[in-house]
Amino acid sequence: MASQEIEALASALARLPGLGPRSARRAVLWLIKRRETSLVQLAEALEGVRARLVECQTCGNVDTADPCSICTDPRRDARALCVVEEVADLWALDRSRLFTGRYHVLGGRLSALEGVGPEDLSIGKLLARLEAGGIDEVVLAMNATLEGQTTAHYIAERIDTLPLRVTQLAHGLPVGGELDYLDEGTLAQALRARRPVG
Ligand SMILES: [Zn+2]
Repeated sequence: MASQEIEALASALARLPGLGPRSARRAVLWLIKRRETSLVQLAEALEGVRARLVECQTCGNVDTADPCSICTDPRRDARALCVVEEVADLWALDRSRLFTGRYHVLGGRLSALEGVGPEDLSIGKLLARLEAGGIDEVVLAMNATLEGQTTAHYIAERIDTLPLRVTQLAHGLPVGGELDYLDEGTLAQALRARRPVG
């Protein structure tokens, strides 16, 4: 029987994406053997994230400041807004450095199967941002999955009456491809070749 502390850490790690109970237990043992080095580093990194990271109430990004460094960066084009499903997608797109505007993170995608409706995503906040004015172009950068595309169409319909240029990432993205997994060249190409929704 492992101690309560080990069980608690193993079961917390086992809930991480991509880690099952077996690999979680192996990770715990690995850390215990390196308690003065890797374990201390991990504990400090976790505490740093816990203590300092907040969600930006404007765009949904995760940063050390609210509003985040992207929302407050004066060099960014406030007239262009890129809508993504998850923070990981925002980071992936921002690494490509081709989009100079700001972002809006939905916090997921519409899914009848998983019971995710519009009220579960930050679509209301997005509409409020757009209705407040000052934005000319909205880039719908949903993943090329069925649910991602359903979400993009839903948003396009909801903002149909606003005076905006609505574009989406060019097709040619692999179907089912998650933005986060694409190489930067492919992402940049999809962004450069973005086309009007319609
Ligand atoms: Zn922000």
